[in-house]
Amino acid sequence: MTTLRRTVRLRHGQMAALDLNTICEKCAKSRAHGNHDKCSKQRQAEGIARRAREQQQ
Ligand SMILES: [Zn+2]
Repeated sequence: MTTLRRTVRLRHGQMAALDLNTICEKCAKSRAHGNHDKCSKQRQAEGIARRAREQQQ
């Protein structure tokens, strides 16, 4: 019984990860549609800023 519950939890986690990959978190649209150049540039800039902040601390 416990093994069955574990399998369900695993599947749910995999689905959540898949959603993050297919849907752009910047414009909340599917990455397969539209142009996400600005989104990726914004994400890159945020990543660089976050890394700089972490290095200062
Ligand atoms: Zn986007």
